[in-house]
Amino acid sequence: MISVAEARAVILERLRPLSPETLPLTPAVLGRALAEDVASDLDLPPFDKAMMDGYAVRSGDLRDGKATLAVVEEITAGRTPRQALGQGQAARIMTGAPVPAGADAVVMVEYTQALEDGRVAIEDKPPKAGQNIMPRGKEMRSGEVVLNAGAVLGPAAFGLLATVGRTEARIVPAPRVAIIATGDELVEAGTKLQSGQIRNSNGPMLVAMVCQAGCRAEYLGIARDDAERLRKLVDDGLQADVLVLSGGVSAGALDLVPGILEQAGVEAHFHRVAMKPGKPVFFGTGPRGTAVFGLPGNPVSSLVCFELFVRPALRCLGGRTEALPPAIRAKLAEDFRHRSDRPTYHPAVLEESADGRGVQPVAWLGSPDLKALARANALVVFPPGERMLAAGEVFDVIPLAD
Ligand code: AMP
Ligand code: MG
Repeated sequence: MISVAEARAVILERLRPLSPETLPLTPAVLGRALAEDVASDLDLPPFDKAMMDGYAVRSGDLRDGKATLAVVEEITAGRTPRQALGQGQAARIMTGAPVPAGADAVVMVEYTQALEDGRVAIEDKPPKAGQNIMPRGKEMRSGEVVLNAGAVLGPAAFGLLATVGRTEARIVPAPRVAIIATGDELVEAGTKLQSGQIRNSNGPMLVAMVCQAGCRAEYLGIARDDAERLRKLVDDGLQADVLVLSGGVSAGALDLVPGILEQAGVEAHFHRVAMKPGKPVFFGTGPRGTAVFGLPGNPVSSLVCFELFVRPALRCLGGRTEALPPAIRAKLAEDFRHRSDRPTYHPAVLEESADGRGVQPVAWLGSPDLKALARANALVVFPPGERMLAAGEVFDVIPLAD
């Protein structure tokens, strides 16, 4: 049986980022990866720009910091200066306005006093040439690359792209993820339960995880444990970039998923990983390259396997250069008796405090116990074996996004 790390490597080896598309820069592409280098179409600032409200002056007029100068005009942001400053002249200027020709410094308004005769009295330290002026092109030059391919489109990137005049860009699109829940016993929430039935928790949970990962969820519904019906939904799901199934991948009489996937032309890359919960997890690729994940039906198994395998796959397909999350370690808050033959992903509460990160496993009944998981904000990874894990020992932790 392969390890979690090996299984992740198999997935990432098989997958490549989706083909870029030219997309409008709307909130729909927030968090997507840029697929081109974006160059500026302008010098920024486009002119020598005042960085303070005050007076544009010639520093030569203020050798000792003091002078009374004739105010020739007022320049607000968005205006163009009408005249060059001559000797003995100043212009009232506002932050963001172009500095007039002839001026080489801006004196802050705090060091000035406007006189009634239209002059201004200045009393400051002797200004240095360039003081309070951002020269043209200091931030960026026309033609300069301001964002590289691979950059993640966060709020600052949106602002920067607008700065350089972009309304669209080449972007790796959000993967489309088809989701199928399998099981004769399942009914959707809102349905009255008949004997033997349970509600489908994995459908809504997986849709939520896909959306949280910034991808497009296409929920295809519940497949009965019936080969024909399952095959039909699998064929539909194979049209997406990713197909996620829950249930039906273990060794039960009605665990039809691996067989049906094979019939549908899915090549299996692994089935079973040394982990708890989630051991029966399946990964393959479909005829069109669709990444196919068969997650075990127990809800916590489904969530853990999504976190460990599906999320990195979605990041990789989405063009993220770092598909795997950075490793986080935390100290066990209290002694904890642990027994398992496999590495265990135990629901836990991760807390940051002045003395670092602490992690506390929550009481958990195992893979069906979604109630425990809903109280957790992380998974703590315990190694196989049986022993008392001591408070203060350090373990890997996987934070769960909220
Ligand atoms: P399976 O992987 O199909 O053998 O299912 C394992 C366990 O998870 C069984 O107890 C199922 O009833 C349960 N299960 C499977 N699918 C779901 C689901 N979508 N929602 C809640 N429980 C499920
Ligand atoms: Mg089942």
